[in-house]
Formats: sequence, C-alpha cells, structure tokens
Amino acid sequence: MAECRSKILDGSGIDEIAATVRPKQLDDFVGQDSLKENLSVFVRAAKSRLEAMDHVLFSGPPGLGKTTLANIVANELGVGFRSTSAPMLTKQGDLAAILTGLEARDVLFIDEIHRLSPAIEEVLYSAMEDFKLDIMIGEGPTAKSIKIDLPPFTLVGATTRTGLLSGPLRDRFGIDLRLNFYDEGALTRIISRSAGILGYDISIDAAGRLAVSARGTPRIANRILKRARDFATVMGRPDISPEVAETTLARLDIDARGLDEMDKKYMRAIIKHYAGGPVGIETISALIAEPVDTIEDIIEPYLMQQGFMQRTPRGRVITDAARKHLGETNA
Ligand code: ADP
Repeated sequence: MAECRSKILDGSGIDEIAATVRPKQLDDFVGQDSLKENLSVFVRAAKSRLEAMDHVLFSGPPGLGKTTLANIVANELGVGFRSTSAPMLTKQGDLAAILTGLEARDVLFIDEIHRLSPAIEEVLYSAMEDFKLDIMIGEGPTAKSIKIDLPPFTLVGATTRTGLLSGPLRDRFGIDLRLNFYDEGALTRIISRSAGILGYDISIDAAGRLAVSARGTPRIANRILKRARDFATVMGRPDISPEVAETTLARLDIDARGLDEMDKKYMRAIIKHYAGGPVGIETISALIAEPVDTIEDIIEPYLMQQGFMQRTPRGRVITDAARKHLGETNA
C-alpha cells in the first residue's frame, strides 16, 4: 500500500485530472475562508493601485492548495505567472535568467522555497527588497559584479516547513498565510465540484464518505474520486454510489479516519518497539524505513491534527486515542 499512498500524495508527475479540476479563481477555491478573505483584500488593493502585490508565503502540508493559490493570485491580478522550484535553482544564473525575464507586476512562484541554497537566497534578498539583481559573474580575478534593475514583481513562495526557512528570507514576505487541513464539508464540496467538472455521477452521500477518508487534503480527495470511478466502472455501475465509495476505500486500505497502511505502520512501530514513545524521529525513520522528510511532511501533520500523536521535547508519543482507534479497526 505504500506504493499506492505515494502515488496518491505525489503532486509531481503529470496528472490530467489535477490540471482540469484546479480552481482558477478565488471564488472556485473551496474552504480556507479567512485566508481567502484576506488574500482577496490584498489582491484588490494591489490591483486598484496598479502596483505589484507584496510577496506572499504559503505554508502547509502537501496537497492543500499552495500551488493552486499561487496561480489564482496571478489570475486575479491579471498578470503573468512563472513557476519554478527551489531544487531546480542550482546556480545564481538560473534565478537571474528567470528574474530578468519577468514583466512588471508578474507573479514568480517558487515551490519548496525552504530548499534554496544560501547563494541563491542571497540573490533573492535584493531582488525581493529593492527589485535589483546583484550577482557575480566569473571567478577569481576576472570576476565581475553585475547590477541590474528588475521590474517590480510578486514572489509567491510555498513551503511545507516554515521552520526550515531562514529568518531573513521569511522576513521579506509581507504576507504570510498558512493553509490548514480541510474539514469534511469542504472536502465534500471539492469532491462534488471535481466530479461535476469531470462528468462523473456521484451522490452527496458517496462524496461525503470519500471526504471523511481524504486526510483533510484536496489532492487526496481528487485521487480517491478517480479511483472510485474506476471501481464504479468495473462494478458495472453508472454512478459512484455510497456502496462504490465503501468498496473503493476498503480496497485502497483507507479507514474511516483517512488513515492508510503507512500511518498505521508508523503508530504500530512506536507502540510495539517503544511502548508508545517518546522516541526520536531518526529512530522511527529507521524502524519503518521511510525518510525523515516524508514522516515530518506527510505522516505526522495529519496524525497530530487527528490527536493520534504528539511531538514532545523528548520525542514522538502515540496517544490513547490512537491505541483505541487501532484496536477498533483491528489494525
Ligand atoms: P500544494 O501546492 O499545496 O501541494 P496543490 O495546489 O497542487 O497543492 O493542490 C493539489 C490539488 O488539489 C490541485 O490539483 C487542486 O485541484 C486541488 N485543490 C487544492 N485546494 C483546493 C481547493 N481549495 N478547492 C478545490 N480544489 C483544490
């Protein structure tokens, strides 16, 4: 099931569904109401003053809509959109090429911004603050410093880990917005909306059933919807009924709280080998053979939100609620 899970969570890769159902305007973006209200004010204010909007940082677990919102900001402002991710920016020149290609007020989106190298961050500081590019070309005695004026632009950064962002970089974002897991109602609306766009027939009960198991995450909701449609087809059903939804979740090994095999493996390992904790993250990583990043970005945020684990100064601790849930689901 780990394979299935990584497929469900992997936002990279080509996904025609994601592209079709991705909301283009703020009005189509479901949930995150207070974030949306604030963002809409900042967008309207910048637009009416014909200024580049202040730089924005979106943070939160994968699949909650950070990339989608970056696109929406550009659409709502009516400006161009350039997108890259920190691991792709290996040399100062990579960033310089992108920055010098921007038009006034454009949005530049940098995903995984906590992974920028210090040398690239340095270039970004003056670009963000003074709209000036200041880089060294060449090495040794022939090295030259070049300064270029940039058009005013909006940098939108996305990160799953605000904690890993350097202080100076974080301070340069005028707007700092955190995305939270979605509640069942919002996820039901997202599933119904996606089904409508894709022409799938799904009852509200079935959408609600899938929503409960979507780990509070729209990307997972859309992926489960796609699988449910496959099961409907194979079961010879014209629509996604609650019965099809149940079968889909059972076959994907996703339980009523949205937990899958990997979550259960994590909790069981700590209970079995460390009597529920506290235990350090490196030890858990070795125990379940998953990278620390995956554990911190994907597994733990949802388990914490569900009250199934806690991070303490002495390590991770599994709660009684988790033991009860595992007992009830016979996992
Ligand atoms: P992130 O950048 O945070 O990893 P994305 O912006 O790529 O997440 O969102 C993942 C998918 O979930 C997108 O394809 C989009 O269709 C869907 N999605 C995310 N947030 C919402 C939302 N609030 N309403 C509807 N669909 C959403």
